[in-house]
Amino acid sequence: MKMELDWKAIDRWIFGEAWTGSKVGEHAAVLCEAIGPRWASSEGENKAVEYIREQFVGMGLAGVGLEEFELNTWAHGQAEARVDDVAIDLLPYNRCPACALEGPIVDAGFGTEHDLDKVRDQLKGRIAVMHLAMEPFTTPVPANIRLAALAEAGVVAVVAIDPKDGRRVEYHNGGDWREPETAELPFPAVTTSREHGRLLQQWAKEGRRLKLVVESRFYKAPAHNVVGEISGVRWPGERLVLGGHHDTVYGAPGGNDNASGTIAVMETARVLAGLKAELGIDPGMDLCFATYSAEEQKFQGASEYVRRHCADKPRLAINLDELSAGHMKGVVLSFAHLRDFVQGQLDTMGDGLKCHVMSQLDATSDHFPFLRQGIDAAHLWRWRFRGRHADADYHHEPADTADKLNVRELKEYAGQLARLLLRLSHQAPEQWPVNTVKKEAVKQRLHKERGTVVRVY
Ligand SMILES: [Zn+2]
Repeated sequence: MKMELDWKAIDRWIFGEAWTGSKVGEHAAVLCEAIGPRWASSEGENKAVEYIREQFVGMGLAGVGLEEFELNTWAHGQAEARVDDVAIDLLPYNRCPACALEGPIVDAGFGTEHDLDKVRDQLKGRIAVMHLAMEPFTTPVPANIRLAALAEAGVVAVVAIDPKDGRRVEYHNGGDWREPETAELPFPAVTTSREHGRLLQQWAKEGRRLKLVVESRFYKAPAHNVVGEISGVRWPGERLVLGGHHDTVYGAPGGNDNASGTIAVMETARVLAGLKAELGIDPGMDLCFATYSAEEQKFQGASEYVRRHCADKPRLAINLDELSAGHMKGVVLSFAHLRDFVQGQLDTMGDGLKCHVMSQLDATSDHFPFLRQGIDAAHLWRWRFRGRHADADYHHEPADTADKLNVRELKEYAGQLARLLLRLSHQAPEQWPVNTVKKEAVKQRLHKERGTVVRVY
């Protein structure tokens, strides 16, 4: 079947609908405010997936459903640190083991080798304070490597100093997520603010003692991805995937991280479903939409999606995460072979969008479970470009509220993604460069790149 598509009319309709029919503001209010924090497996997540499912049904997607899986999860209760009567600003690391400790504090600087050499004889059995930031002018050492070095030296817990200011503290992750199965903290770790970090460093010199209590537990619970699709009329079974995680860390409304990406998935789907309903324009390949659970818990939701749906590789899986960084600038691929092909489609859109390829495999969001299987996985710029909006600095903290999400820019994302997906879906399978990436080769590359800091500019 040959289809003549009037791209000018299509683009006009898509952008008109993405802008004037937008539900971005409405979705943000529901997800971030009416529902709020959406830690995977929590009541908040349950409400969110039900809401997204209803939206998918309402826009007329096919195959809409919640896909349940057993999540390996964690919960925390009280998390508190005190020096005498002073309560220290504090959040536990994600998946922090429970502890009740008391002892003198040691200032471990940045946790780099020369810093540890200065205090090596004082570390055993102690609680260390460590800057989370990279040491200036020094080859960057990932925080998880520095934490492992502290564990090796006998430290029993770490208070990490968040580099943000204004007493902001974020939830952080332990381990190297390039291998999520083994990525765990070697000991209890918590984060304090830059301001209280300074106090702790001073008090370390005076030999003052810190009391640290974290209540937490590990357990299993059901969690859900949400899926729906628009079937392709030319090459059914050939798939493009657009997804983003709907979950958040504890206590965070997740405006930037990641109501922004979730809403862009919903809006792109809505616009393309509307195009089909009103103008009768179908995609050539199947367009699969998904919101993933548990990105914040080692990508367990997207990993489940890949297990269920990607035994045959989709042509491309685009992941949307933290879109408050700025306007859509283009697409970033994990592997190079599609670069010119995708760039060719972006060029037909006439907006100067660029296709780039990451020089390292990136395990910071839900494109990772896809690329790990050798699937062509892409993400957008996220927080990683110069000139990004300050709001993109908010993610794993309670202040990542609905106002951190940029409504007008999300309208643009939905319009551009709809244009791009529709174009890609109408490229015949034989025109796509062949993906020869083997899972084993990815594994070797990941192994080689472990311990490095992924290039972000
Ligand atoms: Zn995220």
